[in-house]
Amino acid sequence: MATSSLNIDTLYGMRQAGASLQQIAEMTGKSKERIRQLLFKNYGTTKINMMSTAQICDLLGLSRHQIVNLYEDRMIIPMVEWKTGKHHRLLWSPQTVAKIISHYQENRRCRMCSRPIPKGRRVYCSPRCYQEGQKYIYKDARAKKRRLISIRKSIQKRKLLKLAQNIARERLESNLVLTK
Ligand SMILES: [Zn+2]
Repeated sequence: MATSSLNIDTLYGMRQAGASLQQIAEMTGKSKERIRQLLFKNYGTTKINMMSTAQICDLLGLSRHQIVNLYEDRMIIPMVEWKTGKHHRLLWSPQTVAKIISHYQENRRCRMCSRPIPKGRRVYCSPRCYQEGQKYIYKDARAKKRRLISIRKSIQKRKLLKLAQNIARERLESNLVLTK
């Protein structure tokens, strides 16, 4: 195989598929050391069983944002992280991929208020949270956080109010029964 036709992603794919550096060297007619160098230069590692952000997006049907958000919230930590020019590359372990799956499949929470996201919605639970999210998208993180706390408080307050109303109604109803 000529150097020019040797796609670096193909090398990486072969490695991920379980081929040893020696096997890849034999298949491509390059030295084992050269394969190691190419993989390390382009992917920061020669280890297998790691996925790039793009691979996870393809696999799970997620947007890059959805993975980067978890990363920025420090909910997931990449196994390898490095920069090539403008690109910030990240590689993830199978355990992290499992975490991402469970986060987006079982634990989808509104980015604004953290309530579960109903079917048919992706990031925000309601049009109201979507609007709030858009309002603060270009503002600083602290303003966003303050707003978030106030929304959570108002939700909590509404919940407590409803609970109190229910208790009051139940009491009223039982009083009515007693007085009958
Ligand atoms: Zn919400």
